[in-house]
Amino acid sequence: MRWKGVIEEYKEYLPVTNKTPFVTFYEGNTPLIESRHVSRLTNCKVYLKYEGANPTGSFKDRGMCLAIAKAVEKGRQAVICASTGNTSASAAAYAVRAGIDCIVIIPKGKIALGKLSQAIMHGAKVFEVDGNFDEALNLVREMGEKYPVEIVNSINPFRIEGQKTGAFEVCNQLGAVPDFHAIPVGNAGNITAYWKGYNEYKAAGKINSLPKMIGFQAEGAAPIVLGHLVKNPETVATAIRIGNPASWKQAEAAARDSGGSISIVTDQEILDAYKVIAAKEGIFCEPASAASVAGTLKLHKAGKIPEGSTIVCVLTGHGLKDPDTAIKQGTKPALVPCKITEIVKRLGY
Ligand SMILES: *Cc1c(COP(=O)(O)O)cnc(C)c1O
Repeated sequence: MRWKGVIEEYKEYLPVTNKTPFVTFYEGNTPLIESRHVSRLTNCKVYLKYEGANPTGSFKDRGMCLAIAKAVEKGRQAVICASTGNTSASAAAYAVRAGIDCIVIIPKGKIALGKLSQAIMHGAKVFEVDGNFDEALNLVREMGEKYPVEIVNSINPFRIEGQKTGAFEVCNQLGAVPDFHAIPVGNAGNITAYWKGYNEYKAAGKINSLPKMIGFQAEGAAPIVLGHLVKNPETVATAIRIGNPASWKQAEAAARDSGGSISIVTDQEILDAYKVIAAKEGIFCEPASAASVAGTLKLHKAGKIPEGSTIVCVLTGHGLKDPDTAIKQGTKPALVPCKITEIVKRLGY
């Protein structure tokens, strides 16, 4: 049967009324792929939930379809978001689909090229402000209070509602509940959403157990792990360059109540995992996504993940989002004369 998109597929679990429009690009239903390499390294069963396969290239689409639909239901003509990139790319596309305007506030110079290109091409009103993400979000909150524009950052509860459907899919695709659910943590909306999803699926009698939620922040942007705000968050993983997570308390609760944790991975660990996932699995994710795999490897090494465990790592966004980092990390193609002899010589044939 044809996949109908997040709102229609999961409407019995979502705050959908008969007035909610089905705004969709048929998001969700993303592949759950066994990672042979990471499974071998850890003696575990490791699966990658490839959210980069969503229509705009990140998991943000799961929640954005519902947030935009509810904004339309409310009669809004415009939505606004602060964004490190993927939220704006998703909001801009879904706003077009719904026929409303999209305003995007981005922190100066801190947005991956692919994401910015999406917001621009979808005709969003994009403003680059000379502040970091957290300051941009404060501005957006003020706009939402004073003007009839709907905020579609993850402080919008419908974002979390839509995103929780990822947990339903993991259980359905796996035919089981994973022992561990590994996930990058930025604003902490997604770890909150997955934990909510698992709990609701259990309450509905669809599953009998819950995974341990293991979240990972980048070393230079780890407010939850450190227990205090980070004024100038820095990491190569721009999607999680957040110093004051909007869902801080909920993320802590998810880690605590599930028996999991939120811990730190370094930029080097993130980049190593980023390269391994691309080179050994054939899956291109963006740096922030690789934090889930980097963290899994780190916890396994520290003896905190028993052998034989089933682990789902969410790969939150597509690698094409951030071509600059990819090109910087990879080896440049060799420039050679256009002669077969020159190629075979270098191949060692
Ligand atoms: C938004 C985003 C994150 C962080 O998710 P939060 O809900 O903010 O914790 C991680 N990776 C990618 C690719 C993202 O777009």
